[in-house]
Amino acid sequence: MQRKMAWLVTMAWWFMAAASQVNAVGITTTNRLMAETRFATPCYTIDSGIPGPTVLIVGGVHGNEPAGAKAAESMCQWPIKAGRLLILPRANVPGLAANKRLIPGLETNLSNLNRNYPRAKQKDSEARGDLARAIWKFATDNKPDWILDLHEGYDFHQLNDKSVGSSIICVPLPTAQAAADEMLAAVNDTITNSSLKFVRRNLPIDGSLARAAGEHLQIPGMTLETTDKQPMEKRVEQHQIMVHRLLMRLGMTDESLPLGNFLNIGGQEDTPPPHATDKIKVALYKGSGTGGNGPPDLLRTLNESNAPTSLVEISPEEIRAGALTNFSVVIFAGGSGSQEAKSIGESGRAEVEKFVRNGGGYIGICAGAYLATAGYPWSLHIINAKTLSPKWARGRAVLKMELTSAGASILGGPPIVNVLYHQGPIVGPAQDTNLPPYEPLAYFRTEVASNDTPKGIMINSPAIFSGRYNAGKVICISPHPEQTEGLEYLVPRAIQWVVSAN
Ligand SMILES: [Zn+2]
Repeated sequence: MQRKMAWLVTMAWWFMAAASQVNAVGITTTNRLMAETRFATPCYTIDSGIPGPTVLIVGGVHGNEPAGAKAAESMCQWPIKAGRLLILPRANVPGLAANKRLIPGLETNLSNLNRNYPRAKQKDSEARGDLARAIWKFATDNKPDWILDLHEGYDFHQLNDKSVGSSIICVPLPTAQAAADEMLAAVNDTITNSSLKFVRRNLPIDGSLARAAGEHLQIPGMTLETTDKQPMEKRVEQHQIMVHRLLMRLGMTDESLPLGNFLNIGGQEDTPPPHATDKIKVALYKGSGTGGNGPPDLLRTLNESNAPTSLVEISPEEIRAGALTNFSVVIFAGGSGSQEAKSIGESGRAEVEKFVRNGGGYIGICAGAYLATAGYPWSLHIINAKTLSPKWARGRAVLKMELTSAGASILGGPPIVNVLYHQGPIVGPAQDTNLPPYEPLAYFRTEVASNDTPKGIMINSPAIFSGRYNAGKVICISPHPEQTEGLEYLVPRAIQWVVSAN
């Protein structure tokens, strides 16, 4: 009898533990809205399995407001103890890819996604355009109790009332306004400068998702606006704090909820950094064909708070969608040049070529240098160099590199340095009559020739070489200064040159 009791207690404990684990984490279901179209976008349902409210969170409606999308994405990881979270983090995928507020390629009266939801004071009004219709159907099918739409304004509303930045715009329902005030108190607790604090504004604009939630579903709808003069981490954190507070109020989470990766990054500054918008905007290719230690090193160096550059990663899809137009420089880092070429595809290569032709800067490091050359059917042909050997796996070594006088003036630093090399291109002139000759900025003075690669061809061949391509400039770097201690200045100097006037 005693044994049987003990067994029952054990089983009961086991079931409770198993059940509470499910409850604390929730079950996430992933779907795709508008699959097989250019608007295809993931949506997530996180179901705690315990009765409670359903909250819909939307981000990325305006493509130039990425903090809302990142914040909404981070919330997919949040453990939910009651109710359901529905998350559509990237509502306007083409807009996000192009970093444009409106939907690219649509006529004007449909291009602002947040004006396409059912209109106020018109009972039978319907959502307009395929994307808003799909999102509105997703919302109504799931019968949410709350809808939060995460946006960004260009200025702090208290300092500039033309912008809605740092505000919660709320439908005039008492439940919504009381919750908004609690969310405002939570986020304002983290802001010391009183003129940068968030304020509540009433009545979201007609045609917006939040307004339609109030008018057509009679539920609280809110547009949460951060201010994009602040660092990304700060904006994401502010969205997280506001949403988290509402979920706490609704009993869906508790104090222990881990906020996203950004919460403890740069959380102290609440004044915009001076000249933040003057930084050189650099895109770093992220996708198949690149990897290793180079990209994280570049992300760290080029995004330091006092660096003159700001670096964001860009995907093959974004490149194909024309997103390079938002940048001054693109970097392709280490990996495999032919894989990078394959991954961005013919239309992506055409976008990169056009970007440089129209005045953009190109920095290729190792694989990215192969990609720029004129020797392969898959390469970009934006610099008049070709590789000298069909065998490329020369190995990895620290080698001596000597700057030319042109290299010394562009790149600075000591004339002879040790640099990490890992199978970068060994080049000579490609004799392409459509391209000006390249200029060597540094030569290898020692070599590595493993795996039966030809000896002697590497010594005194260009390690770094530059060229002009129509209105743009190119620098190719065969070794890895970004991964060499003491040479971290070299890529930033290369960036300065490719963006400088001719
Ligand atoms: Zn917006």
